[in-house]
Amino acid sequence: MWAKTSWREREALQQPDYEDAEAVRRTLAELSTRPPLVSVGEVERLRAALTEAALGQRFVLHGGDCAETFASCTEQALRSKLEVLLQMSLVLTYATRRPVVRIGRIAGQYAKPRSRATERVGEQELPSYRGDIINGAAATPEARRPDPTRMLEAYGHAAASLNFLRALIEGGFADLHHPQHWALELVSASPRRAAYERTMRAITDAIELMESIGASSQAALRRVELYTSHEALLLPWEEALTREREGHGHYNLSAHMLWLGYRTSQLDGSHVEYLRGLRNPVGIKVGGATEPAGLCALLARVDPSREPGRITLISRLGEAGVERGLPPLIRAVRDSGHRVLWSCDPMHGNTETTASGRKTRRMEAIFGELECTFAVHLGEGSRLGGVHFEMTGEDVTECLGGSLEVREADLHRSYETACDPRLNGSQALEMAFRIAELLRA
Ligand code: PEP
Ligand code: MN
Repeated sequence: MWAKTSWREREALQQPDYEDAEAVRRTLAELSTRPPLVSVGEVERLRAALTEAALGQRFVLHGGDCAETFASCTEQALRSKLEVLLQMSLVLTYATRRPVVRIGRIAGQYAKPRSRATERVGEQELPSYRGDIINGAAATPEARRPDPTRMLEAYGHAAASLNFLRALIEGGFADLHHPQHWALELVSASPRRAAYERTMRAITDAIELMESIGASSQAALRRVELYTSHEALLLPWEEALTREREGHGHYNLSAHMLWLGYRTSQLDGSHVEYLRGLRNPVGIKVGGATEPAGLCALLARVDPSREPGRITLISRLGEAGVERGLPPLIRAVRDSGHRVLWSCDPMHGNTETTASGRKTRRMEAIFGELECTFAVHLGEGSRLGGVHFEMTGEDVTECLGGSLEVREADLHRSYETACDPRLNGSQALEMAFRIAELLRA
């Protein structure tokens, strides 16, 4: 029998060791009385949109920070992230001729799985940083001690972020007119300038045509939907924000969508147990160690009724791993009868470390994985229905390449991520243009 607490009877990987059990209990009791951040109606609307996506009628753009931090909950960071997500989605809408479903890794992406429980900093062996919802990033034993009251802070920051995003969207920020203003710098610097200009002109023409048709189409252009998501990692927090709706079931109302991380996808583990009982749509990361049979067993557990679009499989095989790794997975899933939505995260399989010790990712490898993933799906008679990025709206230098060429020597200039390297605003937009070229080819 599933209950929102039944994960507690399984092995839960990647959880912090809190010292003060009473403080944890108090925090969770308080969290569980807090109002939801999203509504059941919104979660159901996303479910319906993802069902359409699984049937090939929509494309999904999923993106945002690797790890949001409390300090990055600022007007500027949220505004620019929303701006870039909207710009990317407009380019993808143009390319696919289908409405794009936008899902942010935003307003709750505060917990990080770590490959090692501790890390060496200088002379000290410290507990790893696990995200602001758990401990602090500063390299001191005090900062790294898991603090349960951070869960309440995370709720507060998620609420403030989501409130601001909703206000921007309601206030007409989503007005997507005149794309020629937003990509000028990018386009003028790019060797692909002519192609980008063509795409932008086509989008501008289409918008002008819709404007000339009248008010209803203008309203449709201004009104956009943005859904929120995060990795369901810190299970006590997720449980406290899970609410039952009589006759409908259980919803995690801290976000519209949740995903199962690559490191916590054990069939009999706590994370799978927790996610299987929710009405929310669920993402599952799929990587090089995912076996076709194991993936099918996971699907049977999390999607027993085989509902189209309930599950989004997010492949993150790395540029070099797609050709060999993806076809057997696609075939096994198809034969299993689950109607999943396939998405691709071209970030996590393409991480490398530079000689000076920085984690980075190359635009060419990221795009290469996408290109290969589209081709493999096509070859298998399947369809890639979404993309998943780690990105920010800001001008960081964390990933290499792009038209405004970030080189290895530039990485130190603005390397701000709390965890993995993200595409900056112009790299993210350029990625959308390149996917558009691919989709239109
Ligand atoms: C992530 O999405 O930030 C992440 C840790 O990914 P994965 O679980 O695929 O490694
Ligand atoms: Mn990451």
